[in-house]
Amino acid sequence: MKHFDYIIIGGGIAGLISAYIFREYNTLLLDKKGILEGASSAAGAFLFPKISKKSSYTDFINNSILAAFTFYKDIGIDTHKKGVLLLPRDERDIKKFKEYEKYIKLPFEKKEGGFFFEDGGFIEVDEVREKIEVPFFKEKVELIKKEGNFWKVNDFFAKNVILATGYESLIDIPYIQIRPIWGERIEINGKWEDNLNFYYHKNCSVAEIQNKLRIGATHKRNCLECKINEEEAFELIEKAKEIINIEKFEIDNIKGGFRAASVDYFPVVGEVIDVDKTLSLQPKIVKGEIPKQLVYKKGLYIINGMGGRGFSNAVMCAKMLKNYIENHRNLGKIDTKRLFIKWARKEGEKYLKKLKEKNVKSGKSY
Ligand SMILES: Cc1cc2nc3c(=O)[nH]c(=O)nc-3n(C[C@H](O)[C@H](O)[C@H](O)COP(=O)(O)OP(=O)(O)OC[C@H]3O[C@@H](n4cnc5c(N)ncnc54)[C@H](O)[C@@H]3O)c2cc1C
Repeated sequence: MKHFDYIIIGGGIAGLISAYIFREYNTLLLDKKGILEGASSAAGAFLFPKISKKSSYTDFINNSILAAFTFYKDIGIDTHKKGVLLLPRDERDIKKFKEYEKYIKLPFEKKEGGFFFEDGGFIEVDEVREKIEVPFFKEKVELIKKEGNFWKVNDFFAKNVILATGYESLIDIPYIQIRPIWGERIEINGKWEDNLNFYYHKNCSVAEIQNKLRIGATHKRNCLECKINEEEAFELIEKAKEIINIEKFEIDNIKGGFRAASVDYFPVVGEVIDVDKTLSLQPKIVKGEIPKQLVYKKGLYIINGMGGRGFSNAVMCAKMLKNYIENHRNLGKIDTKRLFIKWARKEGEKYLKKLKEKNVKSGKSY
């Protein structure tokens, strides 16, 4: 029976980059479909900055973009860095752009009524799959269980497990809700205006890539039944026509998938909290008391909630997770702790009541 330092469950971009970042350990990546076959197979995968009023979320996104450009370049993955022009969507957006200008921290210039950033590019999913090589086994994980000092993952054993399962949850973590957001992105052949020297982002992202136009992405919440359909692809083409003049086209390919978002859009990273033990020891947390100490499921970690920017967020999140584990560095806003505190105040009382009933029945007490 094989023992590992880390088993990473989920071979999307979050799991793959984690496996690479943790490569100095004895690490195994597991996925039921293959590498980059989940939402990650559908991604654009555009890398472009975000603009907004002063916001820690925007700062996180843009720092992640910079970290991603460096990371991919260092391992020889082309980021096709030609720059991106962010354009306002409507009159309201024109006003917002004026407000946002003073908060922009990355170098930019004004162009065609929008902001042009050199830090805009995209990567090819196939190239990432080819160039990031990590020990991998194709297998669906059905079971994770603590046995002594190890986590049993199907028939494997690991000191540490990192859950990177995207919108699918493998175990119930009551305080973490990951919402699936369906999206499609397409590539078309045809005729459009010449000289697309850089990329555009307005209601969607548009880039000319090897004589095709890549357009992404649609956005549908609460639609677990969503499947690839041409109607949605035509919606995207209409959005792209608001950016460039497309004279004729035929659809070359459509890709679709569920991106995984947290309730506050920040990624969800860190060690998983043992809810039962933490609440039993400090029941006043449910009344709003700040936890003095959190009890963790030792060696069980999560990296999820990459949203629509997994190809940049995953780099920053995996690096921060490693730094947290090795050097006890703070995870800041991406720490799952924030979700626990919020959840405990809202749902904790009900949960604690059920937990007490369960413990009385089983004769267990903390
Ligand atoms: C249409 C579309 C366009 C997008 N465009 C962009 C873009 O331009 N730029 C960008 O940065 N991001 C983009 N995204 C977002 C990006 O794709 C996601 O943020 C990213 O793929 C999430 O990666 P992940 O690893 O968290 O999840 P996933 O890629 O979904 O990976 C999760 C993996 O876990 C595996 N898994 C689940 N349960 C188990 C189990 N029990 N056992 C084994 N394996 C399991 C699944 O098979 C899956 O492969 C887009 C997404 C979509 C859908």
